This record gives sequence, C-alpha cells and structure tokens, in this order.
Amino acid sequence: MIPYGRQDISQDDIDAVVEVLQSDWLTQGPKVPAFEQALCDYSGAKFAVAVNSATSALHIACLALGVGPGDRVWTSPITFVASANCALYCGAQVDFVDVNPETGNMSPEALRAKLIEAKRQGTLPKVVIPVHLCGHSCDMAAIAALGDEYGFKIIEDAAHAIGSRHDGHILGSCHYSDITVFSFHPVKVITSAEGGMAMTNCADIEAKLVAYRSHGIVKGPNEMVRPDEGGWYYEQHELGFNYRMTDLHAALGLSQLSRLDHFVAERNRLAVIYDSKLSDLPLTPVDPIPGSESARHLYMIRLHQIERRREIFDTLRAKGIQVHVHYFPVHLQPYYLERGFKEGDFVHAEAFYQQILTLPLYPTLTASDQQRVIDELATCLA
Ligand SMILES: *Cc1c(COP(=O)(O)O)cnc(C)c1O
Repeated sequence: MIPYGRQDISQDDIDAVVEVLQSDWLTQGPKVPAFEQALCDYSGAKFAVAVNSATSALHIACLALGVGPGDRVWTSPITFVASANCALYCGAQVDFVDVNPETGNMSPEALRAKLIEAKRQGTLPKVVIPVHLCGHSCDMAAIAALGDEYGFKIIEDAAHAIGSRHDGHILGSCHYSDITVFSFHPVKVITSAEGGMAMTNCADIEAKLVAYRSHGIVKGPNEMVRPDEGGWYYEQHELGFNYRMTDLHAALGLSQLSRLDHFVAERNRLAVIYDSKLSDLPLTPVDPIPGSESARHLYMIRLHQIERRREIFDTLRAKGIQVHVHYFPVHLQPYYLERGFKEGDFVHAEAFYQQILTLPLYPTLTASDQQRVIDELATCLA
C-alpha cells in the first residue's frame, strides 16, 4: 500500500527518545523547553508553548485571546474539524468564511463581505482562524489588514505549514497573527507522535498559554495573589487542563526539527515531479500563491470530471494507492448541521470539496511508487 502520508523516523530520532527514557525526566524535564526554544530560533517568534496536540493548542489559543460565551470565532470550512471545535470548547459560537475556489484557503474578499454584514448586525468575530491548507499560505497580509480594520485577533492554523514561508516570513513567526499553531501528528511535516505548539510574540499571551496547559496553575513569584506559603506553594488562577507535552515526545520533535529543511525540500522535489508528469491530464493542481514557499504537507489536485471523483478514488484505493480527500466541509458535518448550518451556506467550499483528491506525498515516497501513482491516475483518466 502507498499511503497518502507517512512519517520518516531515523536512527537519530530513535536514539533521542531512548536517551530520554534512560534519563531522570520522562515529562516536565529539559526536552520540552529545548524543543520550544528550537522552534523560536527557527521561526523568529519570541515564545513557543508545547502541548500534547494541535487541537489542545487551538483550544488554549482561543482561551488566551479571551474567547468565551457570547463571542464569535470564524474559520474556514475546508479544514479538519479541530479548527472549528476549539471555539465551541470555549462556549463561543463558530461561523465559517468561504474559500478561494482555486486554493481552498480562506478568501479575504469573502471575509471582507462577511465583516461588513457582521458590523451592520453587531456580530463581529473576536477571533479569525485562517488555515494554511496543504501548507500553502493564506493571503495573510490581506487578512491581517482586515483584522486591524475590524478589530479581530488572528490564530493561524499552521498544522500543515511548518516549514512554509510567505512574503519572506516564516510561518510561525506570527508576523500576521497573534498566535500560530503547529501539529506534530505523524502525517504532518515533522512529528512528535502526538503533539502541537503555539507560537506567539506576546509575553502576556505566552503566560496564559503556559497556565492553561497545566491546570491554570502559576508558579512565578511575581504572579502570586496571596502571600507565599513556602517552597511548595503554587496558585491556580484559571480552570486549565493537562495538555502538557512529554519529554519523550519533545525529544522526537526536536530531533525531527533538525531535518525539517530536508523534509520540505524532498516534498517540493516530489511535488514538482507530479506537476510536470500530470500536466497533460484533465486536472488542476492546488498551487501555493505567488510569493510563497509551501512545506507541501499535501499534494492536492482538482479533477475536471468531478462526477467521476468517487470512482477514481475507489479504483486507486483498490490498487493500494491511498488517495484521500481533505476535507469534507466542516459545516456539513452532522454535528454542525444540527447547529443550523446547511448545504449552500459556503458555495465555493462545497464546490472545491467536490473536485479535490489528495495524492500520496511524503519524503520517503520512492520514484517507482510515485510513478505508479501517476500511471494509475492517468489510466483512470484516460
Ligand atoms: C491535523 C490538524 C489539526 C489537529 O492536529 P492534532 O495535532 O492532531 O490535534 C488541526 N488543524 C488542521 C488543519 C489539521 O490538519
């Protein structure tokens, strides 16, 4: 079977995890801050807060920006459900912004139109969560300009996009956002098995993220509101969670981070081969926008014969080629239909969904396996 994505684990990765197993600290040791510091050094962001998943990172990112009951959070319908669920965890309302029909990323034009209407009705969002689908950057300059104009905060869901750049900025630098979230699930660009990271340049946000990650507990001498009781004393200020990353996971993530540039280069090399060898077929690749370099988490195409998508998917799967579809629009999930969304709410997202197919792409995809994917797809489309 050729999967759509898979991790690449080296002997160095294994050694790094074994070293932690033999050390004094399985969790809350030195590997977590080392991983955080390495991501700050890589991205240029001032702070990084490691957690046990990107889902947890999105949840505490919303909380750190003050999202609660009565607030609105907007995201893209073409994403994994976690990008929307995080708002509901906080008791806020979630809504969606339609996508650009070619990239599947949040459309700044649709966002502007929705903001104008929301301003009229007094229903402006507190937070907007653009998602960098495939690792291809959204038009962040345009989204950030709307943030300044309409007063919302921005969380970038960069689960697909560690290693991507746009306008000369590394995603994760938070140049255009308050917080950027990465995922280290094994299908993503680098992995810590499970894990996530919230990046920010704001010390106040970082302090909140750190507290929410660990039960809402604070330990800094300057943070206490009651008199110090002694060396054992700490205070709980918020209702937080245990979302901590372990040192085993951090050691794996840190080791993988050292190969991030290699992974991104390999993914791009393979994407260029797909681009050229698929160019005569009735399909259009989902490309990064000009001025950006994508980490290429996913290689996605739009089929021209949309009525054949399911048949092509089934045929390739039957041949052991694990194509995929990213994603069924979130607003059409039964859970969201029950909350008032319906077919026709986001027409570009729904049309995009009908056309897309994700082809296998990962650094260890061999030339012969990639050629098989290309040949089988060409046979289907002949
Ligand atoms: C994978 C993913 C997440 C969730 O990441 P986890 O680390 O599995 O919690 C969130 N958003 C997007 C767009 C994703 O692809």
